[in-house]
Amino acid sequence: MDFKSLALKYKTPLYIYDFEHIKEQFESAKEAFQAKKSLICYAVKANSNLSVLRYLGKLGAGCDCVSIGEVKRALIAGISKYKIIFSGVGKEDNEIAYALRQNILMINVESEEELKRIETIAQYMKIRARISVRINPDVNAKTHPYISTGLKKNKFGVNIETAKKLYIYAKNSEWLEPVGIHCHIGSQILDIEPYKEATAIMAELVKNLKALDINLKFFDVGGGIGIRYKDEITIKPHDFAQAVLANLGESDATVICEFGRFLVGNSGYLLTQVLYEKKNGNKRFVVVDAAMNDLIRPGFYDAYHEIEAVNKTEQKSSTADVVGAICESSDFLGKNVLLPHLNHGDLLVVKGVGAYGFSMSSNYNTRKRCAEVAFVEGKPRLIRRRETFEDLIGCEVECLVRGNI
Ligand SMILES: *Cc1c(COP(=O)(O)O)cnc(C)c1O
Repeated sequence: MDFKSLALKYKTPLYIYDFEHIKEQFESAKEAFQAKKSLICYAVKANSNLSVLRYLGKLGAGCDCVSIGEVKRALIAGISKYKIIFSGVGKEDNEIAYALRQNILMINVESEEELKRIETIAQYMKIRARISVRINPDVNAKTHPYISTGLKKNKFGVNIETAKKLYIYAKNSEWLEPVGIHCHIGSQILDIEPYKEATAIMAELVKNLKALDINLKFFDVGGGIGIRYKDEITIKPHDFAQAVLANLGESDATVICEFGRFLVGNSGYLLTQVLYEKKNGNKRFVVVDAAMNDLIRPGFYDAYHEIEAVNKTEQKSSTADVVGAICESSDFLGKNVLLPHLNHGDLLVVKGVGAYGFSMSSNYNTRKRCAEVAFVEGKPRLIRRRETFEDLIGCEVECLVRGNI
C-alpha cells in the first residue's frame, strides 16, 4: 500500500482497510464450517461502515446488531433481513417493534423481563416473534475484564435454569417462537477451552429442550476469536469449528458465528502525520495528528497496536510515546515505541485497527472524525468522507437559530 500517496490524496488522519484481507478472513471462517449449515453474522459494532457491511453481505455474511441503528445500517447495506440478528441487554420498545416489523431472523433475548416485553409488543402488533435466548454459561474467557461477557458477574444473558424456563414459556406463548440458542463469552479470546466449555453447556440444554419438544434451528456461538496484534497465538477457525461441531453432535441446527474483530481487525491501518517531536527530560514524545478520539483502544483497554514510520530508512533511534493533541493523559496511540528521528510531516502507520477503531471514535475536543478508505482490487476508494466543522455543530446550530437560549 502506498501510504504516502494515500496521505496526499485523502489527507490525514485516515483509516484504510484492506478489503482483500476481510475476504480471506471471511472465507477461512466459512470454509471451517463447511461440513454443516452455517451462517456468519458479522458483528456490526466492530466496524459499522456501510461499505464494509455491503462488501461482507456480498460475500454471504449476515449481521449481528446491538442497536436498532445497526439493524438499519445492515438493511441499508443490502443484508437480507433473514440474516439479521438483534442482540443486546437494553432493547427499547420501539427497537423491538422495529425489529418485528422488519421481520429479521431473530431477537436474542437477554432477560426474563425482556422476553415478556417482546411478547407484549408482538401480541399488540399481531406478529409472532422469533427469539433466541442468550445463555450466560459462567465460563472464564481469560481476556481483558472489559471485554469478558460470559461470567456470572457480567450483565449479559441468563443462566441455564432461567433459560430453560424462558424456552418453556416461549413455547407456550402464541406470540413467541423459540428458534435458537445464543452465547457470546467475550472478545479477543486466544484459548479454545472456554469455547469448548460454553458450547458443551449450550448443547446439553439443546438436548434437554428437544426432550420437551422444543427444537431449535439455530446454534449461535457468538464471536470473540482473538487476532494477532503483537505476538499472540490465537485460535484457528478450523479448530474453533471442530470444537463447536464436536459438541453439536448429530443435531442438524445451523451454526451461527458472530465474528467481528476476526473478520476486520487486521484489515485496518490508521495513517497519521507527525506534528512535533518533544522531550520532557529524557522522555521522548512524538505528537501526531491522530488522537484518542480516532482510536481509543490504547487509552481505554491499554491495547497494543504496532506503529511504524512510513518510508524511513534510518535506524530506529530511541523509544517514544506516540500521542495526540487531546487534553488527557490517556491520549496515546502507543507507548515506548522504537522509532527513527522524525520530522514534521513524516507519516506513521498504526496497524490492526480495523475493529473497534473508527466505530469507537468520537468528536471529543471538537475534532472531526476522519475519512475512511477501502483498498479493493488494488485501488483505494473513499467509503466515508472526512467530517466538516459544520457536521459537528449542526444539531446545536438548529437550536441556536430557533433562539432556544
Ligand atoms: C461484540 C459482539 C460480538 C463480536 O465480538 P468480536 O470479539 O469482535 O468477535 C459478537 N456477538 C455479540 C453479541 C457481541 O456483543
